Formats: sequence, structure tokens, C-alpha cells
Amino acid sequence: RAKSAGGNRFELADPEADARAITRHGLTTALPTALDRGEFFIEYQPLVHLGDGTVHGAEALVRWLHPQHGVLGPDRFIPLAERTGLIVPLGRWVLQESVRQARAWQQTHDEKGPLRINVNLSPCQLTHPGLVSDTVDILEQAGLEPDALCLEVTESALIGADDDLLKPLRCLAEMGVDIALDDFGTGYSNLANLRRLPVRVLKLDRSFTQSMQQCPADPVDLKIVEGIVSLAHSLNLAVTVEGVETGAQAEQLRILGCDTAQGWYYARPGPPERLHELALADATG
Ligand code: C2E
Ligand code: MG
Ligand code: MG
Ligand code: MG
Repeated sequence: RAKSAGGNRFELADPEADARAITRHGLTTALPTALDRGEFFIEYQPLVHLGDGTVHGAEALVRWLHPQHGVLGPDRFIPLAERTGLIVPLGRWVLQESVRQARAWQQTHDEKGPLRINVNLSPCQLTHPGLVSDTVDILEQAGLEPDALCLEVTESALIGADDDLLKPLRCLAEMGVDIALDDFGTGYSNLANLRRLPVRVLKLDRSFTQSMQQCPADPVDLKIVEGIVSLAHSLNLAVTVEGVETGAQAEQLRILGCDTAQGWYYARPGPPERLHELALADATG
């Protein structure tokens, strides 16, 4: 393309790709020190019981307030953090901060039963030797019970996982920490393999929720979700759905037997005070 555009060898083949590369480079140099500069913050999105609409807990979602680019979502910097290794200290910070937050909610909200906290784990954190001891320390320091914590691991991170990879997760599960399989249904995991994993929750990917939006919903997708839910329940796993944007989706997923849901229909990710308000709102009526 560069050549056909007038033979100027120095013309960029794809200016947009180049702009993206420059941005990426800028982010790469700023990322390692962003944690020390306190540029990361966490938004919380409620998880709601589909049966009665009460708040079950929240997922912690990290953001980067970049001095030039403004607020960046995790898709912009988590892959970079994974490549550079920053994900380990960043992930530890997210865990520490959100566990502390969960404990604070519990202290002001305990009459309605404890609020739980979901935290995403990267594959790199799974293989990091400090995962179990860091998690134990963080829970102890905050005074949060292990069973109020749920760690989300993507299905793809556990495809073909051997015993070495599963060991820390098993250990955490034995302590009472829940493990959720995030974005479930997007990988190609062997369903029979689920039995081997120390998993308590399946988090059905947003793509399934999206197909509930059509009216009538795609009958094949309905069957698939129905099948996943009944398999999950027969294995004693709970089913959470992500990306619920309308009441019709929520109702369909409730009828299909899903347990909890998350999405813009209930609330967008927001500051911790927002979750507290929502939880208190259902406590009072
Ligand atoms: P995820 O864990 O699957 O999180 C759900 C994503 O869906 C979030 O995007 C959330 O804002 C978005 N979402 C929630 N409800 C709706 C809805 O109704 N409609 C639509 N269209 N989207 C909805 P977000 O915050 O951009 O996070 C993207 C991904 O980044 C997360 O996907 C997770 O894999 C990763 N991530 C976020 N925080 C962390 C973290 O602290 N550590 C690691 N390792 N990964 C993280
Ligand atoms: Mg998640
Ligand atoms: Mg997810
Ligand atoms: Mg997802």
C-alpha cells in the first residue's frame, strides 16, 4: 500500500496502526510507575440475585486514570501489564484494595448478610508462587472471611490446566474462597473437565446474554443455556450471567434457572459508595 500511494517509501502503510503503536508505547513506558503514582482505581459492579433482585456482592474492575489519556479501561492495559509482569503487583493491589472495601461494606451493612467481593485473576497470577500466601495475608489483614471472596479465572486460563496450576486454586478453595470460571462458554473446554476443577461458580459469557435480547430468543441458545445451567446445578455449581442490559433478558435468564446476574440493567460499574447505597436500598425495601 505504501508503494502504490505514490512511491514514497516513507509513507506509513497504516497510519491508524501507527497511532495505536505510539499510544501503546506511551502506555508501556508509563505503566510500570503508574502503580506507585497511585493512578489506578477500582469500580465496583453489583451482582444481583435473579430471584428477588437483592444485591449479592460486587465485582472489582480496575481502571487507570492516565494523566494524558484520561480513564483507561482494563482492556487497554491489562494485556500490557501481563506482558511486562506488572500484573502481579497490580493484581495484588486490586485484591488488597477490594478486600478492604468489602470488609468496610460488611461493617456498615451486616444486618442484611455479608456482601461478597469478586476479583479477577490473570493467568500470570495463577502461576505466581505468592498467590496463596498473599491472599491469606490480605484476608487476615482486612479481617474478611475467605468465603466472602470469589476469585474469577477465565475459562481459557484453565483449559488443559495440569495439577501444578490447579494446586494453588485447590488450596484457596479448601480455605473457603470461591473460584468462578469467567467468560464461560467462549473457550472450548471439555464440560466433563469441570469436575476436575476446584470451581464453585460458572460465569456465563455476555454473548449468551446478548442472544436473549432477540425476541424470540434463538431457540438453540436457549437450549444451550438451559443445558449449561442444569449441568452446573447437578455439579453443585452456581451460575452467574454477565452483561444483562434489559429486564427481558433478566427475566429469560431467571426462567432458565440462572442464580445471579450482573449488568447495566442493574447498575454500571461505579464508586464503592454507589454499591453501598444499592445494598442499603434493598435492605430498606
Ligand atoms: P470481565 O471480568 O468479564 O468483566 C465484565 C466486563 O463487562 C466489564 O468490563 C464490565 O464493565 C462489562 N459489563 C458489565 N455489565 C455490562 C453490560 O450490561 N453490558 C456490557 N456491554 N458490558 C458490561 P471492563 O470493566 O472493561 O473489564 C474488562 C475485562 O478486564 C474484565 O472482563 C476482566 O477480564 C478484566 N479485568 C478487569 N479488572 C481486572 C483486574 O483487576 N485484574 C485482571 N486480571 N483483569 C481485570
Ligand atoms: Mg470477571
Ligand atoms: Mg466475565
Ligand atoms: Mg466477559
